[in-house]
Amino acid sequence: MSKFFSKKYDSLEAYTPGEQPRDQQYVKLNTNESPFPPAPQVVKAATEEAGRLQLYSDPESANVTRAVAERYGVEPENVLMVNGSDEILNFAFMAFGDADHPFVFPDISYGFYPVFAEVNHVPYREIPLKENFTIGVEDYCNVNANVVIANPNAPTGLLLSVEQIEQIVASNPDHVVIIDEAYIDFGGVSCIPLIQKYDNLLVTQTFSKSRSLAGGRLGYGIASAELIRDLNTIKYSTNPYNVNRMTAACGKAAIEADDYYQKNAKTIAANRAFTTSALRARDFEILPSAANFIFVKPPFCSGEELYLGLKQRGVLIRHWNKPRIAPWCRITIGTLEQMQALLHAIDKMMEESK
Ligand SMILES: *Cc1c(COP(=O)(O)O)cnc(C)c1O
Repeated sequence: MSKFFSKKYDSLEAYTPGEQPRDQQYVKLNTNESPFPPAPQVVKAATEEAGRLQLYSDPESANVTRAVAERYGVEPENVLMVNGSDEILNFAFMAFGDADHPFVFPDISYGFYPVFAEVNHVPYREIPLKENFTIGVEDYCNVNANVVIANPNAPTGLLLSVEQIEQIVASNPDHVVIIDEAYIDFGGVSCIPLIQKYDNLLVTQTFSKSRSLAGGRLGYGIASAELIRDLNTIKYSTNPYNVNRMTAACGKAAIEADDYYQKNAKTIAANRAFTTSALRARDFEILPSAANFIFVKPPFCSGEELYLGLKQRGVLIRHWNKPRIAPWCRITIGTLEQMQALLHAIDKMMEESK
């Protein structure tokens, strides 16, 4: 830290992204990216738009906004396109959080939530998941605070129903409830339709996971026109051109290629079922996942040993040295080939541990 760094960030601990190693080729199952490339028409859209990069992007991202609005049956005024959904989550902490409006979220969830709270000086409270890692819906009803919940949750993969979400939203009419649906396309039902009924609900989604565009940085929020206006005030006070031209063009093309991405999501769900039963046959404990990853507890070693042993064998997964989840690891679901490489490496480890 330099002597110039503001004291207001003294206690700030930045978010640690998953490793993006360059030392060797790994079977990369650590950051929940899609194993499938973008649809061909998305690549074409990016290439064409590259020739117009001398011009600023459209601050309203009107084309992709309209495409997303139509896809989800809402009006363009209900949609805000952003530079990855991380950006709209940060905007939401900036827009809705203060000393009188703290945030609550699960103690085991997306590691960025406490960082957004810290960097914006928004007070927050972490609500422990139940012993079995599920979210206690009653813990979030009438909490007198803004709420953010990932659904399905990460890194557990566990899903709440739309009815459970509605209970939380309905019981907190004077606070904003944010449902982070980064993984909803892999087996959940979106609560987007609830925005017609509740003006305090913000649903965020991303092109990074099911739409193979993690490197393009595109996400969006869907909410009442009033909430979207507030978030736009923050956007136009920080970075009006937050979505670049190429990415906006990719996003529109990706919405038009919906069938391709739905087919890929189905493949991931099938590979998830395959991997889950293969690992259960090896006595792993596995939470039922609705996402493109599984949360697993190995029977023969610690979580850290599984992570390190697999890395040594060229397979990268994610492990956190944190209370409660240290015995567990998160494994991204990839192609069947990648899953077989994972199982092969695990079998090697199990043999050697005998
Ligand atoms: C990946 C992820 C995001 C956001 O990703 P972006 O690439 O910024 O869109 C948000 N929430 C959760 C829980 C995620 O796992």
